[in-house]
Amino acid sequence: MLTKAVRGTQDVLPEKVHVNQFIEAAMLEIARCFGFKEIRTPVFEHTELFTRSVGDTTDVVQKEMYTFEDKGGRSITLRPEGTAGAVRAFLEHSLYNEALPQKVSYITSCYRYEKPQAGRLREFHQFGVECFGPVGPTADAEVIALASEIFDFIGLKGIRLELNSIGCPSCRPAYHEKLADYFKSKRDDLCKTCQGRLERNPMRILDCKSPVCSAIAQAAPLMMDSLCSECLEHFEGLKQGLDDLGIAYIINAGIVRGLDYYSRTVFEFISDEIGAQGTLCGGGRYDGLVEEMGGPQMPALGFAMGIERILLLLEAQKVALPPATACELFIVTHGENAHNLAAVLANEMRAAGLVVDFDLMGRSVKAQMKHANRISALYTVVIGDDELEKGQAGLRNMQSGQTQVIELDKFVDSFMTLRAKDATESLSQAVEASLFDN
Ligand code: ATP
Ligand code: MG
Repeated sequence: MLTKAVRGTQDVLPEKVHVNQFIEAAMLEIARCFGFKEIRTPVFEHTELFTRSVGDTTDVVQKEMYTFEDKGGRSITLRPEGTAGAVRAFLEHSLYNEALPQKVSYITSCYRYEKPQAGRLREFHQFGVECFGPVGPTADAEVIALASEIFDFIGLKGIRLELNSIGCPSCRPAYHEKLADYFKSKRDDLCKTCQGRLERNPMRILDCKSPVCSAIAQAAPLMMDSLCSECLEHFEGLKQGLDDLGIAYIINAGIVRGLDYYSRTVFEFISDEIGAQGTLCGGGRYDGLVEEMGGPQMPALGFAMGIERILLLLEAQKVALPPATACELFIVTHGENAHNLAAVLANEMRAAGLVVDFDLMGRSVKAQMKHANRISALYTVVIGDDELEKGQAGLRNMQSGQTQVIELDKFVDSFMTLRAKDATESLSQAVEASLFDN
């Protein structure tokens, strides 16, 4: 127990964390280029926020939430997704009075009590964006373009964009009726949860994971056939916008999304290479949610992508990402004076932004060299009494094996110069080699 993480949670070890850091930085940076600013909201909220916004007939609310009472008797829930918190903050801080659109992005941990399996965890992470204000389909195309740019930038391939429209409050009620009529004729075959959903929210049955319910849902009437003219026009506008941006999509009238708040546009980015949990990103419009939560009438839209699923696909496709920054210099010391000098030099170099280490374990010179190799230090320098006396030491390039003289009293400048010289040399060697190849 003590040395085992809770089921459905996982650690990211130092060895691998640079991959998370790289993709998360890319997500926030690309979002920034699209005009989105980061928002940070609490990991827990009042339970009611999620039951109201996500919807009390959804799997998330009915089965998956981590809900508890705090010592003050409040019902608290660990966030199962990011939109509700962003909307709450938007309302609480009256961001609707600021210049519209308000565009926010976030990276958050999320909590859902689900059956853990590949790509499905109980603690997972999402990158998400929300855009408040725009009513027209250009905004839908913009958030889809943002997600698409992220996948392109990090080098993922073969991801399919599926689109649908699930209508609006003026065309959905009639569709609900059609749908309820259809499901009523199969009531006894539906799972218990879906029997309960029949009256309250028959669309949720379309999203049920039980094989029997999803088989029944296959032949259900489609929202796409019942859209009002405004919703149709919006959908056509979105398709045109995506065509203009050169973003390929397919229409899948079966997508309804697992959360209640969506209206009109819904979309998913899907991969077939990471098993059954292939949805990397899901999103859409939620034009009624802000008002429903007590705010002004405010069209809005967004998406969330699952970071762990993206990591799975990166691994499956063996995408080459920039390596972790290695230790640039390991200072090997012999004797107390050298050790003390190493501490000062390392401090100075670290302040200049270099990754520098020296011995903290009381190792012999030989063992320190071995350690420098093990951590793949790019350079080493050995400092002992002789070097202290001469004021010079040998800086060894661990890749080429070459040693150059470095002045101890101008250590940082001297290191920078030698390193730059090495970089120029290896660059010109690479250029020569490639010219020779041709
Ligand atoms: P699914 O149908 O796979 O359960 P969902 O509709 O519940 O997904 P959303 O609520 O839209 O998912 O969340 C957005 C994204 O977050 C998903 O597309 C997925 O990449 C990721 N995600 C959702 N649930 C989990 C989970 N339990 N573990 C890991 N990632 C998840
Ligand atoms: Mg789910």
